[in-house]
Amino acid sequence: MAYLGNPGNTIAALQKYNFNFQKKYGQNFLIDTHVLDKIIRESKIDKDDFVLEIGPGIGTMTQYLCESAGRVVAVEIDKNLIPILHETLKEYDNVEIINEDILKLDLMSLIRQNGIQKPMKVVANLPYYITTPIIMGLLEKHMPIESMTVMVQKEVAERMQAGPGIKDYGALSLAVQYYTRPQIVANVPPNCFMPRPKVGSAVIRLTRHKKPPVETKDEQLMFRLIRASFNQRRKTLANGLSNAGNLHFTKEQIQRAILELGEPAAVRGETLTLEQFARLTDILKQILDE
Ligand code: SAM
Repeated sequence: MAYLGNPGNTIAALQKYNFNFQKKYGQNFLIDTHVLDKIIRESKIDKDDFVLEIGPGIGTMTQYLCESAGRVVAVEIDKNLIPILHETLKEYDNVEIINEDILKLDLMSLIRQNGIQKPMKVVANLPYYITTPIIMGLLEKHMPIESMTVMVQKEVAERMQAGPGIKDYGALSLAVQYYTRPQIVANVPPNCFMPRPKVGSAVIRLTRHKKPPVETKDEQLMFRLIRASFNQRRKTLANGLSNAGNLHFTKEQIQRAILELGEPAAVRGETLTLEQFARLTDILKQILDE
């Protein structure tokens, strides 16, 4: 079977099956072997690894993954792609193709059924319309994942990597950085895909922390505080938190906590580090328990 990662072979595979791209599924297939090589290198997979690929498309990257990894599970929502995948991957006996929506897949039972012991590696050229729910779903559910090497919209990759004081810094940056160490490893222009997306792309590797970099007594409360702080970016932290519907602190309690944190009363959430959010959480929790 010819490798698919170039325009000619991709077009041939699409024509053979009379495949029509479905915009609603964010289908932009990779047609650049350099980018494919780079993703495989940066994902650091070897024959001991179990890899989850989200959205294999016609199997372009899956072929590379099958060559490098021990086992590959590829989850594709579009049923029209399944017969194509069966053909393009027929030479590999270490791949399982699942026709399912990744957001609905019971990953834990899949891991159990396959008797997988080692944390898996996720490698994907993600459908951009659901990048955040996919990544946050995998992280928040504490799935046994060692790393995720994923192609996302460039802007989203920058948000994941941003720190305080940078315009892109927000709830996604803090959540991703609580669970992982993000590192953008490649920028990928639109002409590496078929059809070309309207936005630039980047490959980001998220390496899971063995232990979160900060400790808090209440992880859920911390994320509620973070979300509330960035929901109302223009407001001060005190106003943002006291207006949030799902937090039940008085304005006085919040002001006291900010003071205890050692920050000025008019501080904005976007200047706080992850560590400060963790400390603020613990201070507010203690105030509640008084
Ligand atoms: N991996 C292929 C490549 O690099 O050429 C295709 C990547 S394309 C950007 C995204 C793929 O994700 C498409 O094949 C699309 O059908 C699939 N997809 C979209 N939504 C999905 C979902 N909810 N669950 C699983 N796959 C999905």
